[in-house]
Amino acid sequence: MKYDLILIRYGELALKGKNRSDFENRLLENIRQKLKPFAGVKVKKTFGRIFVELGGRESEPVLRALTEVFGIVGISLAKQVPSELESIRQAAVELVQDLDPRPRTFKVAAKRSDKSFPHTSQELNHLIGGHVLRNTEDLRVDVHRPELTLKVEVRGKYTYLYGANLPGPGGLPVGSSGKVMLLLSGGIDSPVAGYLALKRGGVLEAVHFHSYPYTSERAKEKVVDLARILTRFGGRIRLHVVQFTEIQTEIRKHVQSSYSITVMRRFMLRIAEQIARNNQALALVTGESLGQVASQTLESMNVINAVTSYPILRPLVGMDKQEIMTISKKIGTYETSILPYEDCCTVFLPKAPKTRPDLKVTEEMEAKLDVDALVQKAVEETEVLDLRPDEKQEEEFSYF
Ligand code: ATP
Ligand code: MG
Repeated sequence: MKYDLILIRYGELALKGKNRSDFENRLLENIRQKLKPFAGVKVKKTFGRIFVELGGRESEPVLRALTEVFGIVGISLAKQVPSELESIRQAAVELVQDLDPRPRTFKVAAKRSDKSFPHTSQELNHLIGGHVLRNTEDLRVDVHRPELTLKVEVRGKYTYLYGANLPGPGGLPVGSSGKVMLLLSGGIDSPVAGYLALKRGGVLEAVHFHSYPYTSERAKEKVVDLARILTRFGGRIRLHVVQFTEIQTEIRKHVQSSYSITVMRRFMLRIAEQIARNNQALALVTGESLGQVASQTLESMNVINAVTSYPILRPLVGMDKQEIMTISKKIGTYETSILPYEDCCTVFLPKAPKTRPDLKVTEEMEAKLDVDALVQKAVEETEVLDLRPDEKQEEEFSYF
C-alpha cells in the first residue's frame, strides 16, 4: 500500500526548553541530510513533531535510511486523508489490511484537535472501530492490550492515521555532543566504539596508524571502508592516516621487545591527542575493553594513559567479545573487519608483551628516542581523507 507520510518519534521526555529545541533542530537537519538522495521527499516539523512526506515514493528505502539516524526512537507509517468520516474509515481498513503480520486484536485511539469536527473522540473510536471490524476477518477489539493501536488524529482539514510503530536507533542526534577523535584500527572493536560514540551524539573523526610497506595499501583501504560504513550513521567523517613506520622502526631498534607495545601505544595517544587538538575534538575514543589483551590490563592502561590529559572514552569497556561482534554485524562492519589484512600492531607484535609494564622503565626506554620530533613529524605528514556517505570518490587534501 502507498503511505503518504512517516511520523518520527524522538526521546523528548527528558528534554526541556532550549535543550529540546536544539535537539529537535539538530535531528531535523540530520534527517534532511540523510534523506537528500531521495528527491521529492520532504521533512517537516509541525505540531512539535517531525514528519517525512514521501511525495509518492516507496516507503521501504526511506524507512531503512531513518533507522540509521540517531535520536529517532520510533517510526510510524501514516496516511493522510481529508477530515471526513468516510475517507477516514476507508483509510483505517486499508491500514489494518496491509499490516504484515496481520494483528489479531486492535483498538482505535482517536483524537481531535479540532472541536468543529462533528464527532467526539469517543464516537470516532466506535465509528472507525466498527467499520474496521465489519471489513476484516479474524480481528477482535481489545482495549487493554491490543496488538495494534490504530491512532487517528483529526487536525483541521486533514486527518492522520498511524499504524505500527517501528523502533528507531535511539541515542542523541549526531552533533549534539561535540567532536571526538576515534582511534580506528582494522579490527572488530574500534568501528563499534565509533558507532557508540556517534550514538551519544558525538561528531566523529578518526585516526589510523599505518605502517607501509609493512602493512599493505589494502590494509589501509579496509580502514577507509570501515570509516565509510560509519558515515551511514555519522554523515561526513574525516579520516587522518598517520605514517607510523618510522616510529615503529625506531621502537624496534631502541626498545626492549616486551615494552614495544606499551611504547607504541603511548606514541599513538600522543599523536592522536595532537590531531584531536588541531581539529577541535574534545575526547579520544578507543575500542579497548577490559582485560582483552596484554595492553588492556589496568596496569597497561595507566602507563599508556600517562602521556595524555585528554579524556579517553572506551564505550566497549564492559562488553564481551560476543556482544561487540553482535553490534558489529548489526551495523555492517563485521564482514569488512574480518578481512585478513595485517595490522600495524600485529606486524610488530612481540612474543611476550608485558601485561604489567612499569612507568619508570617505560620512560627510561623512551628516553633513547626523540619523542617530540617523531610525534611532530608524524602529525605533519598525516594524510587526510574526507569521507561521505555512499561516495566512492572523495577529495584528498592536506590541511597543514
Ligand atoms: P580492534 O578490534 O579495534 O583493533 P583490538 O581488540 O584488536 O581492537 P588492540 O589491537 O589492543 O585491540 O587495540 C586497542 C585499540 O587501540 C583499538 O580498539 C583502537 O582504538 C586502537 N588501535 C589499535 N591499532 C590501531 C591502529 N593501527 N590505528 C588506530 N588505532 C588503533
Ligand atoms: Mg586490533
